[in-house]
Amino acid sequence: MSLNHGRTYLAIPGPSVTPDRVLNAMHRTSVNIYEGALHDMVDTLYPDLKTLARTKHDVAMYVGNGHSAWEAVITNVFSKGDKALVLATGAFGQGWGEVASELGVSCEVLDFGRRSGHDLDRIETVLRADKTHEIKAITAIHTDTSSTIRNDIAALRAIIDDCNHPALLMVDCIASLGCDRFEMDKWGVDVMISASQKGLMMPPGMSFVWFNDKAQKHHEQADLKTPYWNWTNRGQAPELFHRFHGTAPVQHLFGLREALDMLLHEEGLEAAWARHEKLAQAVRAALQAWGQNGPIEMNVIDPELRSNSVTTVSIGAPNGTKLRKWCEEKTGVTLGIGLGMSTSEDPNSDGFFRIAHMGHVNAHMTLGVLGCIQAGMLALDIPHGTGGLAAAGRVVSNA
Ligand SMILES: *Cc1c(COP(=O)(O)O)cnc(C)c1O
Repeated sequence: MSLNHGRTYLAIPGPSVTPDRVLNAMHRTSVNIYEGALHDMVDTLYPDLKTLARTKHDVAMYVGNGHSAWEAVITNVFSKGDKALVLATGAFGQGWGEVASELGVSCEVLDFGRRSGHDLDRIETVLRADKTHEIKAITAIHTDTSSTIRNDIAALRAIIDDCNHPALLMVDCIASLGCDRFEMDKWGVDVMISASQKGLMMPPGMSFVWFNDKAQKHHEQADLKTPYWNWTNRGQAPELFHRFHGTAPVQHLFGLREALDMLLHEEGLEAAWARHEKLAQAVRAALQAWGQNGPIEMNVIDPELRSNSVTTVSIGAPNGTKLRKWCEEKTGVTLGIGLGMSTSEDPNSDGFFRIAHMGHVNAHMTLGVLGCIQAGMLALDIPHGTGGLAAAGRVVSNA
């Protein structure tokens, strides 16, 4: 028997659930892109995008996905042959470095594995050894969506400052913006990127690059700049046509206006962070209880490094894939695949799954996902400790 009729829930870490309000705001015919109401509306997006990033600096919007933001940043700040220090705590850290390498940047990759965060001592050693300041920029991922490690960006900045190293600090917040606290200016981040389809509750299709004056200086020297990705004019040009280097993504912009209203003007950013933290705690409480007796284990060991937007779970191959399939077919919940977690014993990452709790999620969605996972473990005879749902309920009861 299948119990999947009713509203299905895509609990994968992007694209996330798009609120009906955002979809409704987008559901309109295109309007004049050369003058009039759209221009005025788009002007209101810039201050809100800066509020979202906690910055007073600039932001550029692009038609594109997260990979487009990676490429935008690389082409805007580097010249061919420049050196970057790439920090990796999962597949996305590696991925940004690969894009940089393909574009002609010489990358030194520090890989910290998939279960722990930045090793600041290793980073310090590399920066201190770089006496001639060859390293022009450091790329870091706030929450790596494959491992679900959330790195401490303020601590990273402190190490760079301790070393008196002038490299730009560039951070990917695609999986964390709007979900986990992020303070661009206070934490000394020079460039930050995000995309529309995760914590920002939008369909995929827009990406964002925030950059400060120091990054702008690099930009002026950079020789990898291309006409499309060039961030000059993106935030400032009087003509909308120039701000998007062509036709603006009209419907997405109306959706973004609605999403920012919901996040910043109705719920409030701090409250959204607190909601994500609470729901993440409920997920962890369930996993902790289930893990007392059986193969279930959170991938991230240090509680301080666990993301509030998505959780990677290890459950042993082939249980991860079997559980995902069971939940989708029987209950209407789609869990995330074990992305980038393959090992020689488990080449397809069948021993992992991910629970997204990012963006437009509330307690009944998260408790529902946990209930379906519980049912799936019973159906599939996957051993697990008792009390997981009660533990999650207790977290929510203390809201
Ligand atoms: C999703 C994601 C990306 C890639 O975004 P796409 O839209 O799939 O190109 C990059 N970095 C992080 C941290 C992500 O979560």
